[in-house]
Amino acid sequence: MPTDTTPIDTDYLVIGAGTSGLAFADTLLGQSGAHITLVDRRGKPGGHWNHAYPFVTLHQPSAFYGVNSQALGSGRKDSAGLNAGLYELATGAEICAYFDSVLQHTLLPSGRVAWHPMSQVLEDGPEGPRIENLLTGVVQRVNVRRKIVDARYLGPDIPATHTPRFQVEPGARLVAPNALPGLAEGGAGAPLPRHYVVIGAGKTAMDTALWLLGTGVPASAITWVKPREAWLVNRITTQPAPEFFFEAIGSQAEQMAAFGAATSVEDLYLRLEACGALLRVDTGRMPTMFHLATVSTAEVAALRTLQNIVRLGHVQRVAPGRLVLDGGEAALPADALFIDCTASAVAPRPVLPIFHDGPPGSPGRIVLQIVRLPQPAFSAAAIAYVEAHDEAYPDTAAKNAVCATVPFPHTLADYPRAVAVGMQNQFRWGQDKALRHWMRESRLDGFGRLMSQVAPDDTAKLAVLARYKESAIAAMANLPRLMAAAAG
Ligand SMILES: Cc1cc2nc3c(=O)[nH]c(=O)nc-3n(C[C@H](O)[C@H](O)[C@H](O)COP(=O)(O)OP(=O)(O)OC[C@H]3O[C@@H](n4cnc5c(N)ncnc54)[C@H](O)[C@@H]3O)c2cc1C
Repeated sequence: MPTDTTPIDTDYLVIGAGTSGLAFADTLLGQSGAHITLVDRRGKPGGHWNHAYPFVTLHQPSAFYGVNSQALGSGRKDSAGLNAGLYELATGAEICAYFDSVLQHTLLPSGRVAWHPMSQVLEDGPEGPRIENLLTGVVQRVNVRRKIVDARYLGPDIPATHTPRFQVEPGARLVAPNALPGLAEGGAGAPLPRHYVVIGAGKTAMDTALWLLGTGVPASAITWVKPREAWLVNRITTQPAPEFFFEAIGSQAEQMAAFGAATSVEDLYLRLEACGALLRVDTGRMPTMFHLATVSTAEVAALRTLQNIVRLGHVQRVAPGRLVLDGGEAALPADALFIDCTASAVAPRPVLPIFHDGPPGSPGRIVLQIVRLPQPAFSAAAIAYVEAHDEAYPDTAAKNAVCATVPFPHTLADYPRAVAVGMQNQFRWGQDKALRHWMRESRLDGFGRLMSQVAPDDTAKLAVLARYKESAIAAMANLPRLMAAAAG
């Protein structure tokens, strides 16, 4: 292995230049005089978005996604399509261009950020961390004065690089959603399919089915293989603008009331649905999955037009014109194209503390995770703010006390715990004047500003805020009971 003997000196070694790493670096840069070294195996910033399917978009508004110092998008509402009337959702290409701009026009010109694309960090030797350039093989030692930041822990499994867990028999045509817009290219290849089988129950499957419908494929030519039904977040409740105050903050108040009154996990979800916070495609079935996928009511209505639904558990094998599943077989047209939407964007991982001391004489470590659900960009920026302010948070314990890791819910029963930890974080932030001020000014904090800008004579909005406060107290009291019920 060729070695460059000149060590790199830096304060922070950030491993991963996706949303998490960039949002962290951007806020740390603005809040401290630190030097940051950013490393990614990919050749461009933006993480998984570089390989997302071409019709991917954010599922929540661009307005509170990305890095704190630079707006994403133009701040407009969509006037056409299934998101009409709601704030824009950046496409994958827009997100990649945005992160490129953040790197080129904010981070690098600061003179305090070094960028190592096509590189990985090696941490296995006694000499401390090293950066290996994957194209040249050259390895450089890094002298990290403060911390190593693991910004890859939340990295999702994505369709482009996912290996399906089921068998594919010869002759069966299986593609990732990434291949769909290019199906007609390639001239004399296989004839275009006339039937499409979307495999998966999550957001990628929904995006794929909606894209097919949007291109004119009739619902009768689409089969949706759904091992389970999902609860979905109603996108109107995520709109961070004054004209949506009642839908957004009003919904927060109603959700708190649901947490305060629910008598069981199932009752909780039904209450959240009743107040309009959650949606489901098939109202005749009780969902068993909630990964916070966010949709509009128009998207749900379009998905409800699909009538060929296969509910026979997980797929074991795809064969020409046939699917073998846990619970039986499904016959399909012989030329059916199978589309693998089974990559999980939120694979379960152990919940770790965010801040870690290193061994004596070695740098500490930060493992970027969620401190507010479901906001990885806000979370990374908030963690950077806390890291930058030693005067307020002098040690690892103090930093972890304001940044408890919110466990991502993997089962329906996990959600009350996630909400409880998130509320505890929110409560602590509310007691911390400087942090509260930073959050209020942060573009990544969708709702804080909305709540703080209510005029003193706006009685209708003040009533919502009062209901929110009162319901939050009831929720905090009831959440331990819900968690106990979930555990039992
Ligand atoms: C389809 C989709 C839609 C989403 N929509 C939203 C939304 O609307 N709003 C929202 O808030 N969130 C949304 N998310 C979630 C969120 O934006 C991020 O996707 C999530 O937090 C992952 O970003 P990341 O930076 O943590 O990981 P990644 O994007 O995976 O970045 C991690 C980076 O680390 C690099 N890396 C890994 N290992 C190494 C190594 N050893 N050395 C060097 N580099 C390494 C990888 O190459 C990668 O570039 C969405 C996610 C998906 C999949």
